[in-house]
Amino acid sequence: MQTLTSYVGGRWVTGEGPWTDLTDPTTEEVIARASTGGVDFGAAVRHARAAGPALRALTFAERGALLEKAAKAIHAVREELLDLAIANGGNTRSDAKFDVDGATGTLMHYAELGRALGGRRVLLEGEPSNIGRSGRLQGQHVLAPRHGVAIAINAFNFPCWGLAEKAACAWLAGVPVIGKPATATALVTWRMVQAVVEAGALPEGALGLISGGVGDLFDHLTWRDVVAFTGSADTARRIRGHARILENGVAVNVEADSLNAAVLAPGAEDATYDAFIRDAHKEITQKAGQKCTATRRIFVPRDRLDDVIADLGERLGTTIVGDPRRDEVGMGPLATKEQLRSAREGVEALGGEARVVWGQPAAKQDRGYFFGPLLLRADDPHGATRVHELEVFGPVSTLMPYDGTAADAASLVQRGDGSLVASIYGDDREFLAAAIVEMAGWHGRLVVTDEKIADKAIAPGTVLPNLLHGGPGRAGGGTELGGLIGLGPYVQRCAVQGNGPLIAKLLGA
Ligand code: NAP
Repeated sequence: MQTLTSYVGGRWVTGEGPWTDLTDPTTEEVIARASTGGVDFGAAVRHARAAGPALRALTFAERGALLEKAAKAIHAVREELLDLAIANGGNTRSDAKFDVDGATGTLMHYAELGRALGGRRVLLEGEPSNIGRSGRLQGQHVLAPRHGVAIAINAFNFPCWGLAEKAACAWLAGVPVIGKPATATALVTWRMVQAVVEAGALPEGALGLISGGVGDLFDHLTWRDVVAFTGSADTARRIRGHARILENGVAVNVEADSLNAAVLAPGAEDATYDAFIRDAHKEITQKAGQKCTATRRIFVPRDRLDDVIADLGERLGTTIVGDPRRDEVGMGPLATKEQLRSAREGVEALGGEARVVWGQPAAKQDRGYFFGPLLLRADDPHGATRVHELEVFGPVSTLMPYDGTAADAASLVQRGDGSLVASIYGDDREFLAAAIVEMAGWHGRLVVTDEKIADKAIAPGTVLPNLLHGGPGRAGGGTELGGLIGLGPYVQRCAVQGNGPLIAKLLGA
């Protein structure tokens, strides 16, 4: 059995227990263990902060080159990481690629942004503004790196990409990172960090790893640091409410859960309808529905609900559920026993408002954490509450009718109280325009699919490095990715005023 170590203070440290077991969710076999008992979190934070000057001294182009090295180091162990994601996460190979290649792709995207920014060390925000009568007296807003450390806490579902997408933004901004993956699937992150450290891709201290609980880590943070958190809304609340975080004004960027919705517009036929069914199927089955961006609620004009259930059910029936090591399998188990329990309880809790219309909660396999896929139907979405509030983190979506107007669809979508993403499938331009206006303020991303792009459209659950990831309200209000927008949590805005031309020169404008 593998014992995971933490990379802190420039060395690999073995915990002293108590131990948390990591399992293979297909076989229920324990394959590794992790503990941070005995780890000196204060020293870990100080060591990471000490890498700040080296990162800040680099230009964006040079930081970009580091990201490229890190991406190459990860890619070099790609096959190993895919195997670990299959073993420790129950991922199919395709799910695992989504995570691992997503990590290298995101790092490469930010490497390219660094290259394009060239010789500067801080970001310029907007144009200089005149503050006196002579044009010489000017002010320029800049975004400068925080002089602290970024604590990147991630959920179990993306052990590779989750750390890479946070680290890419922090490193490009000039801030060192300590990664803290969810313990249950930390085997993948552990190997990924090992590969980056072994390749000497970064200045020492720019990357640390905590394999296990956070101990008293937060007691060592100040306003100069930032906690970038991805996980459930409950954990986010606990972190935000931590006494030290509040006392010291530690910045917290939250990517939490979400009741993402898809809307089928009236009159959507042929290619648009096919894309709607194709994407709904993907969002339910990819990573066994364990994606924060997966579609949880599907709104359909009342007169089309039965057809959609039949068509989506038929499509779901083509997915083989089983051991993700087998090529023909399209969906593996849930990642942990706890996730299985939580998904079962979730479907039960929705029971008063929604009933299963396709699939069976009971697994056919005699071992492993298998569940679903399941389609639920709720006929009174306006009267329902739980279907809009309870995230069943698995291959489960609830279909609901609406009256065919954009206003009704938007009012139901908004019952999710702020989401990462919503998708609209339709060709009626009036409907689409009204839906976009009504829904954009409640989401980090809207995916609009019409017949012209239906065959090329990217399913709504796919997060792209050049577009914003993060949503308002329940989704946590965080900001990740979106190109340079993603550097936001790791920089401080400062207005530099004085001799305009000189300041421009000094900043490399
Ligand atoms: P979770 O239980 O909230 O855990 C998330 C992370 O927080 C893990 O690394 C966990 O570590 C850590 N953690 C737990 N308690 C903590 C505490 N008191 N202080 C500091 N860290 C703590 O979430 P999960 O079960 O891993 O992931 C599923 C949830 O994440 C879903 O609700 C999903 O919607 C959400 N999610 C959101 C996004 C997004 O981008 N918005 C992406 C993926 C997932 P341990 O594992 O060691 O407990």
